[in-house]
Amino acid sequence: MCGKCCTGPGEVWVSPEEVVKISAHLGCSPEHFLVNYCLPYSKYKGWRMLKTQPESEVDACIFLGADNKCSIHTVRPLQCSTYPWWPELTDDKDWAWEKTNVCEGFDHPEAGPLDVESAAQQLREATAMQEAREAASTVKVTPQVAAAAGAPLLILWLLAQVLAGAQG
Ligand code: SF4
Repeated sequence: MCGKCCTGPGEVWVSPEEVVKISAHLGCSPEHFLVNYCLPYSKYKGWRMLKTQPESEVDACIFLGADNKCSIHTVRPLQCSTYPWWPELTDDKDWAWEKTNVCEGFDHPEAGPLDVESAAQQLREATAMQEAREAASTVKVTPQVAAAAGAPLLILWLLAQVLAGAQG
């Protein structure tokens, strides 16, 4: 195991249900888990992002062990267990970038034959997870705003902030 996908500038999100599941596995309260293992802010209501190890020069996930293995493997977040079958990696160019820069295991000769149905199932789960997370976004962009996608991004962002403030 190289642990490369557990290091770097990425974001690892845990759902409210995963907070409960992982804290139970660790034998601590959800509150303790949130304070000690998650960043104190979130742009998705109820979801939190895992911390990285403060002394790590490569931004290793707080749960990555010295042996490059996940110390909560059996209850790791769905985001981790579905990697690399993520909707944003279904594009050939993005898949090639990820393969070159992050995951040497992609198409590796020692990886064995691809289980297509298992991969498809993980992709479905990852897609549903992302949709649930987006639905919990605290920055709401309405269909009307999205339809105005020809507008400069800054205007879109400002509109989203105004709408979020009006709804909050
Ligand atoms: S929770 Fe485990 S699998 Fe997920 S990024 Fe952290 S160490 Fe890696």
